[in-house]
Amino acid sequence: MTLLETRDLSKTYPGARGTVVQAVSEVSLTLDAGEVLGIVGESGCGKSTLGRTILRLTEPSGGQIFFKGQDITALPPRAMKPLRRDMQIIFQDPFGALNPRHKVSHILAEPLIVQGVGDAAARAARVVELLDLVGLPPDAAGLYPHEFSGGQRQRIAIARALALDPALIVADEAVSALDVSIQSQIINLIAGLRRRLGLAILFISHDLSVIRHVSDRIAVMYLGRIVEMGPTEAIMSAPQHPYTRALLSAIPRAGVERGHRIVLQGEVPDPAHPPAGCAFHSRCAQAMAVCRHARPPLARPAGAPQEVACHLYS
Ligand code: SF4
Repeated sequence: MTLLETRDLSKTYPGARGTVVQAVSEVSLTLDAGEVLGIVGESGCGKSTLGRTILRLTEPSGGQIFFKGQDITALPPRAMKPLRRDMQIIFQDPFGALNPRHKVSHILAEPLIVQGVGDAAARAARVVELLDLVGLPPDAAGLYPHEFSGGQRQRIAIARALALDPALIVADEAVSALDVSIQSQIINLIAGLRRRLGLAILFISHDLSVIRHVSDRIAVMYLGRIVEMGPTEAIMSAPQHPYTRALLSAIPRAGVERGHRIVLQGEVPDPAHPPAGCAFHSRCAQAMAVCRHARPPLARPAGAPQEVACHLYS
């Protein structure tokens, strides 16, 4: 069942001197119930803005968002409030996301209070249940966020996101601030919770080596657009877009001989002044004349399981 769908979703911001910053451009994707879609790309590619726009934490500039079949693009805040039970977010910085003046018991009960769920006893029981779900002991409820390690704080942030039993979680760089050894613990926790609770997750990360461990499908973003999207196995074993190939060449993979690393030249272009044609053409070693003036559509090359936006396959 399709849980989430975006159609040509866009988000712009006013830039300096009257320019328009195109953070997200015409993104169309779907996410099934219980599915994990990884969104990957360099810093500034628009992936976090996409996640926040989908949750209506920032207002879309164009396109549509459907959640459980309902068009929520322009729903007023009062109509969005009950839906927020079903749509939660985990941020990158668990310390910044948790109120340092509140004990964990209050932090975890707060979403229930805001949504008017249960009485005090039921909320206290739910707090213990949530702590257990994320592998923390019941007495963690009586402590403050600063009394935990970074990994434990992210477990608390995950528990809070689960408090209302959501159908969708946007995990926005949820492990990026953690040590590598802790990252794998949190990734395993998220993967286990997804299986146990049937969660759909939009897993946003700049790191393809993290994304591949949790995602059923991967969408690669470049300068606000999806340039390749498909099953994780296809993206990892046979990437089609030159940008995806460059991202993939940078990570070691078990059973795959380390090949030639593709080093991307230059920076991601300024989204206030995106290049004409394919936005990647200024950094693409395979760019052709057509790439400089015609934008390639996202389409499925013959025989490939993934969609690609590249003239090499036109
Ligand atoms: Fe490179 Fe052209 Fe494909 Fe863009 S469309 S990725 S510039 S080959």
